[in-house]
Amino acid sequence: MEQTKTLSTQEFLKSLTILYVEDNEEIRLQLSLFLKRRVGELITAANGQEGLTLFASRQPDMVITDILMPVMDGLAMARAIREQNDDVPIIVTTAYNDDEYFMRSIELSIDRYVLKPTDPHQLITALEKCARLLWRQREQAEANRYLRFVLDIQPNLLMVVNDQRIEYLNRAFLDYLGIESVKQFHDRLEDLQLKVSLDGADYEPINQNNWISRLLKEQEKPPIVYLKRNCPHGAGDHEGEVRPFAVTVNAAPESGKYILTLSDITFIENQMRNLEEIAYTDALTGACNRARLEGVMHAEMHRAMRHRSPLSIVMFDIDHFKKVNDTYGHNAGDDVLKKLIELVKNNLRASDTVARWGGEEFVLITPESGSEDARLLAEKLRKLIEQTEMPQAGGITCSFGVAQYRAHDSIRMLVERADQALYEAKSKGRNQVCVDS
Ligand code: GH3
Ligand code: MG
Ligand code: MG
Repeated sequence: MEQTKTLSTQEFLKSLTILYVEDNEEIRLQLSLFLKRRVGELITAANGQEGLTLFASRQPDMVITDILMPVMDGLAMARAIREQNDDVPIIVTTAYNDDEYFMRSIELSIDRYVLKPTDPHQLITALEKCARLLWRQREQAEANRYLRFVLDIQPNLLMVVNDQRIEYLNRAFLDYLGIESVKQFHDRLEDLQLKVSLDGADYEPINQNNWISRLLKEQEKPPIVYLKRNCPHGAGDHEGEVRPFAVTVNAAPESGKYILTLSDITFIENQMRNLEEIAYTDALTGACNRARLEGVMHAEMHRAMRHRSPLSIVMFDIDHFKKVNDTYGHNAGDDVLKKLIELVKNNLRASDTVARWGGEEFVLITPESGSEDARLLAEKLRKLIEQTEMPQAGGITCSFGVAQYRAHDSIRMLVERADQALYEAKSKGRNQVCVDS
């Protein structure tokens, strides 16, 4: 095909196979001699039926046919050919300059007419015009194939939408959905159970087009698209597999179509989550750090206000920890801190948070707990710590201060009250729980 771009029409004709159907033997032989020198290969038939058989077996590039013929006439053959092939150029040679034939020919999308008796040069002109048409069709088909190839080798998920209808999905998209074609996508939308969420809002079924119209509206800064599909191999994941995608929207020139490119950002999201995790975690103990503590306290205080639900914090500090360091060394001290937090974490509810306030002092946030619940929790932890053998350092104890959140408390005020309770526990002899009154 690449080669044809540099060919003249005459040269292009010499690469084509032409089917010529004519019942009059004399005319057929005469025109065949003329045509043979100008086309790649000429195959001939004496009636429509023969022509049709040859068309099926040889797939010629163009057809020239007479109309009136025995067994099957030219227009009946043309109709049968059109049923198999919309594009192959068909030239009709006719002695009838007759309206009815013309009307029928138009219906069948006959490309050209040459009046009989056939002037060979007129026939060649018609052939050349059809050859140029064919050439253009092939160039277009080649360009389309190339375009699809380019789209199909993209690792990103690509879709072409036309008036909000999904018209094309590239190979990566079909593979992601576990289907073979866009037709299957439309036919099987229900059982695909593909759901979509924009920027983490509620999931909606993919066949509702609101999400596409929103992407088109916000194409300057499109939201993150989360796609949720049922696990393709039924791996028992009822929630479905979720993947985040960054989207770019491009309008295809002069067609009203849009190309949406979805780039999987699972990797980036995971990395961000890991970095966030690192940024908010105390490296030694694995408890939350102060930055995280402030965030959680802020959110929980807000929630407690809104729902009028209780919220308490517990501040605790290792008793005479300096001695542990002095006696067993700083590394042993570090191990004690790690072990302590491991112990505490294993005895909290999922909604509780433990954070390192500084040194060997920690804060527990315990939502939905009044001061009595928090005191009981602190008491449970106190006993547990007292009973636990610490690595290389024997036993330790901790003192606890409990404070319940009061409406309009600031973080500072709440922590201050817990700190005072802790101070009281220390001054009363350590290894005990005091509640702010
Ligand atoms: P108290 O019962 O009054 O709390 O006595 P304490 O000795 O625990 O209190 P103090 O504040 O005098 O000492 C705290 C010690 O904790 C001093 C410091 O070296 C130690 N410490 C703070 N952070 C770390 C740490 O990350 N690792 C180790 N090994 N020790 C730490
Ligand atoms: Mg201490
Ligand atoms: Mg201390």
